[in-house]
Amino acid sequence: SSNTTEHDVAVLGGGPGGYVAAIKAAQLGLKVTCIEKRGRLGGTCLNVGCIPSKALLNSSHMYEEALHSFAGHGITFKDVKLDLDAMMKQKSKAVDVLTKGVEGLFRKNKVSYVRGTGKLKSKNEILVELLDGGTETIKAKNIVIAAGSESASLPGVAFDEKRVVSSTGALSLGQVPKRMVVIGGGYIGLEMGSVWRRLGSEVTVLEYLDHIVPMIDREVADHLYKTLQKQNLKFKLGTKVVGVDSSGSTLKLTVEPSKGGKQENLECDVVLVATGRKPNTGELGLDIAGVKLNSKGQIEVDDHFRTNISNIYAIGDLIRGPMLAHKAEDEGVACAEIIAGKPGHVNYDVIPSVIYTFPEVASVGKTEEELKQANIEYNKGVFPFLANSRARTNDSQGESIQGMVKVLADKKTDRILGIHIIGSNAGEMIAEGALAMEYGASSEDVARTCHAHPTLSEAFREAHMAAFSKPINF
Ligand code: FAD
Repeated sequence: SSNTTEHDVAVLGGGPGGYVAAIKAAQLGLKVTCIEKRGRLGGTCLNVGCIPSKALLNSSHMYEEALHSFAGHGITFKDVKLDLDAMMKQKSKAVDVLTKGVEGLFRKNKVSYVRGTGKLKSKNEILVELLDGGTETIKAKNIVIAAGSESASLPGVAFDEKRVVSSTGALSLGQVPKRMVVIGGGYIGLEMGSVWRRLGSEVTVLEYLDHIVPMIDREVADHLYKTLQKQNLKFKLGTKVVGVDSSGSTLKLTVEPSKGGKQENLECDVVLVATGRKPNTGELGLDIAGVKLNSKGQIEVDDHFRTNISNIYAIGDLIRGPMLAHKAEDEGVACAEIIAGKPGHVNYDVIPSVIYTFPEVASVGKTEEELKQANIEYNKGVFPFLANSRARTNDSQGESIQGMVKVLADKKTDRILGIHIIGSNAGEMIAEGALAMEYGASSEDVARTCHAHPTLSEAFREAHMAAFSKPINF
């Protein structure tokens, strides 16, 4: 059957970009529909990204603490066992509750939800192949494309999601592989590599460059590299994968130095390809509506998320900028505001990023390398967690006192330019940094703000003291 409905806004994709844009537009009084093909809302993030990975990171960390840290706190067990099925169930429960929660939010805000695959038919129409069969044509004054991204594969290496896996397969392995190779030392590779290493795999991370997490401040990235090595995560840097042979009972990888040289073979049971993600622009009918891409294959947008077609907008992973859920969400809000005729804005200079390894790494603003490159003079304040009283109270084996807070502030004005944290609670702590930077704070502003004792946040404050003058406790 085919019928036609008219809307102010049709959102293509129900991930963090799309569902947030849909809710915000409805809150601003517009008639909104959201089209999602997965059969569940929340996109990559809720279903196969942020949420299931953080569930497994938390559970596997607890397992590791039970194995290695609890005894130091005077808590001993007869034996600690891993029940992988139960761990996976806890993960699935978190995902289920949250995706159903988004459906509830749609009902509450009167966003209509169409389950199916949408394709642009014209600049005002989307043809939807419904999941339940049949088609529906959605007519809308404005269209927001938020179709997200998917894992990029390596040339000649096909995913079977059992032995040769993307992050999606790595979130659902049925058993702990004896040996795992992770291709790519970015945050997804390090997070998933950490999960399976903690659960008992021998994990080797291969990275093409000569350092891991290239976008992170180098001093912090080096600190992370050393810490992960101490945890027994193995690395081969400056290494390129030439081929993966999956014909036998174990996988055989051929690798060589990135700069060229002697080939070497590696054997393992599971390979995780975590070399990046690519925008989902293939089957959206962009050519039919005349929507242009940029040279990177992303949808080209202006500062107001507008494509070259004036009533079609795009947000999230399939446009420029960091591929992060909170970036997509903020773009969703701003884009809905713009469509409703209000000023909408995203401050790209203050988007935090977090790597959820143990310890966590979190940053906002400029790295030391970026400031040097731009010839900006800065003061640097560093405070190590080993001098923080709360970190000491939490610690048994040295795990909680790892890391530091590093603050970079303008030499002349003292305005905070960048904050980089490696430490057990870095991901929560960075919010204070983002808030300070959004308000244009100086390091002295944070240094003079009273922080509760004893908290890890005191290390955050003392790093600002160090940038502006001197810390007290180090
Ligand atoms: P998506 O979340 O990809 O949503 C797009 C939706 O559009 C999908 O549900 C898709 O099914 C749907 N769609 C596509 N085409 C069509 C069509 N033709 N018709 C209908 N629907 C369609 N980010 C963080 O900020 N923090 C993290 O901790 C984090 N961890 C991650 C861990 C992993 C393993 C992965 C893979 C990603 C992680 N990310 C994280 C990144 C985050 O998931 C993405 O940045 C975010 O989901 C992007 O949101 P989006 O709305 O642009 O796209």
